[in-house]
This record gives sequence, C-alpha cells and structure tokens, in this order.
Amino acid sequence: MSDKTLFSRIIDREIPADIIYEDDYCVALRDINPQAPFHALVVPRKPLAKVADAATDDAELLGRLCLAASNVAREHGHGDAFRMVVNNGAGAGQTVFHLHVHVLAGRAFSWPPG
Ligand code: AMP
Repeated sequence: MSDKTLFSRIIDREIPADIIYEDDYCVALRDINPQAPFHALVVPRKPLAKVADAATDDAELLGRLCLAASNVAREHGHGDAFRMVVNNGAGAGQTVFHLHVHVLAGRAFSWPPG
C-alpha cells in the first residue's frame, strides 16, 4: 500500500481525475463531489498535510496556491465571484490530509459559512 496521499497519487497520474491546471507548484482538479457549479481543488505538489504545517519556507508556495486559485476561477468565467476555502484539521471538516484550496463558484454563497 502506497504511503502517498490521494492527491499525490492523482498528481502522479496513478488515479484518474479531471485535472484542469498545473504549474511548477501546484495542480488543480475538479472536485469529485462538487458543492457548487464550479468546484476545483488547488493542490500543492509538496504534500503538506495541512496549512498549519506550512513553514516560512513555504511562503511562496502558499502565495502560488492563491494565484493559481484565482487564475483557475478566472479561466472558467468566475473571476468576479468565487470563494476560496481551506479546511485545516478534521475539526474544521478536512478529510484529505494533503493541503488543498477549494475554489467554488457559480452560485450565491452565504456568510458565515455553515
Ligand atoms: P476536505 O474535506 O477539505 O479535506 O476536502 C476534500 C475534498 O476532496 C472533498 O471536497 C472531496 O469531495 C474531494 N475528493 C475526494 N476524493 C477525490 C477525488 N478522487 N477526486 C477529486 N476530488 C476528491
């Protein structure tokens, strides 16, 4: 059994996924269980378990994730209105322990989130 994360296996093309963007830092794929008409996950190639595990050396990586999320939303026609979500830890709803940014768009979003 591989000890790679689910998303590392997707990035390495060991598991199929709908990959819509990639660069040197990250990959974006469509969420398998979308919560909005557009729902992508931006995943760093580096398998940090969660955002709280990021260190100062990861500052550029974190910035690149935000830029990629914004670019993906814009490229899919949602540059003016999208939501970015990062769940950190099981108590916050994280289920896949490889850092990822949810990018959701195409419907109205309430605040605060549920
Ligand atoms: P989180 O709960 O924040 O850890 O988000 C994990 C997300 O990964 C969920 O929205 C799942 O629907 C999504 N997901 C799980 N497995 C896959 C997969 N094989 N391909 C695409 N998305 C997935």
